[in-house]
Amino acid sequence: MKPRPARAFCPGFFLAGGHLPRKRFGQHFLVDPGVIHAIAEAIAPEKGDTLAEIGPGLGALTGPLLERLDCLHALEIDRDLIARLKQRFCPERLIVHEGDVLAFDFARLSPGLRVAGNLPYNISTPLLFHLSRFADRIRDMHFMLQKEVVERMTASPGSPAYGRLSVMLQYRFHLEKLFDVPPECFSPSPRVWSAVARLIPKLAAERASCDAAALEKIVAAAFSQRRKMLRNTLKPLFAESELAALGIAPDKRAEDIPLAGFVALANFRAAARGRDSS
Ligand code: SAM
Repeated sequence: MKPRPARAFCPGFFLAGGHLPRKRFGQHFLVDPGVIHAIAEAIAPEKGDTLAEIGPGLGALTGPLLERLDCLHALEIDRDLIARLKQRFCPERLIVHEGDVLAFDFARLSPGLRVAGNLPYNISTPLLFHLSRFADRIRDMHFMLQKEVVERMTASPGSPAYGRLSVMLQYRFHLEKLFDVPPECFSPSPRVWSAVARLIPKLAAERASCDAAALEKIVAAAFSQRRKMLRNTLKPLFAESELAALGIAPDKRAEDIPLAGFVALANFRAAARGRDSS
């Protein structure tokens, strides 16, 4: 994605209206009209959609989204920005949910929910895990994230970026990187490049059947010390002979194991628990 030439209206750290961006809320506001348009096109909202925007900020994306929707749910933590949003958009069209998105119960919104946003990068990983719990109610998600996070989300086994985030998101979602976004498309500019990603929840039939809690526990343990062999990181959970019986060499590291391998481990653990309790 090529940024349009920088616009002159946001010198320094003050934006239109004099809002001082808050670092603790990860505030980097989109100012490039080409990127804003490209994100709205990628989301392609349609009248009747239930869409929640995370962190609408000064409304850079909110306006273009609302042009195509009847109404939009906005989840914002910054009270100054909430006041501005309420001045700019009428309450029937922009339903503002004030507070921390990490504590928001997405089950309050209709199933088939669409979620989008230029996310606060400081909470993006816990937020992706939080949203994963509602995957069954979600139709799709479009997010601007740090490029490095998108690379971790979409990484394949054997690559240095492959980790807990890759396995847990690839278990629940089809993931696609749409385009990169350079720092100068934001004000203030972040130090890093960003990228826009699309996440579409897998249907039950597309997803390997497994106990998600067991999977989460095993993946967290395996990647807790990624340079160590599985015989060490998984020692509290599996005997070496059990790993070998599942076709997983105990001298492998977590980064070598594909999603299917972790699913096999989770299913083995769940079956063993079932045997123990019967
Ligand atoms: N969407 C705007 C844009 O693109 O210009 C702002 C994006 S800015 C990167 C992140 C936004 O998320 C800010 O508006 C910030 O106040 C909000 N935010 C940060 N932490 C949040 C949290 N825990 N819950 C809800 N909103 C949060």
